Amino acid sequence: MAGLMKVITGEMFSGKSQELARLVLESLGQGHQVQVFYPSSATRGSDRDLERRLPPHPRLSVSSVSPGTPGAMADLTPASADVVAVDEAQFFSKELVNVAKAWRREGKLVLIGGLDQDYLENPFGYMGDLMCIANEVVKFHAFCAACQSADAFVSHRVSSETGQVVVGESNYVPLCQDCYLSALEVREVPVFVD
Ligand SMILES: [Zn+2]
Repeated sequence: MAGLMKVITGEMFSGKSQELARLVLESLGQGHQVQVFYPSSATRGSDRDLERRLPPHPRLSVSSVSPGTPGAMADLTPASADVVAVDEAQFFSKELVNVAKAWRREGKLVLIGGLDQDYLENPFGYMGDLMCIANEVVKFHAFCAACQSADAFVSHRVSSETGQVVVGESNYVPLCQDCYLSALEVREVPVFVD
């Protein structure tokens, strides 16, 4: 079959991993062999993680890979896998872009899930590159946790740490733009330096 790359993105709590799990289960139901990857050092440790949403299945392999060496995913992917899913893709280094292209050239369905923006509205990792080369991009949105009347667009950090990568769902809430700007007004805006 012709390869296809689909990116599922949005802020935290938007339902990305749920959608990725749905697509993986659908592929398994169609008889496909599925390989799932997630970054080893940045899992949320939550029941919402993709790997915890998937029940054991004879045609499903789930592996964690160091975010700095996404090339390892190419080596770990069996030739028989016709579907590959990568969750938390924002944490992987740029090599993931080439790995994903290679999978697509091999005729695989490539499913990429990850955050589009960090907590300061900056593009996260190489998600932008992956969105550019994808055949399809879907953005999911949570309801704003503050007003609960608008779509969220960003994962607002409620803890005081300032690095780009601070893992843990309890550190974030999804906010709409109005509520995000209000939240930033009540404290000094942190600045992330790449
Ligand atoms: Zn709001």
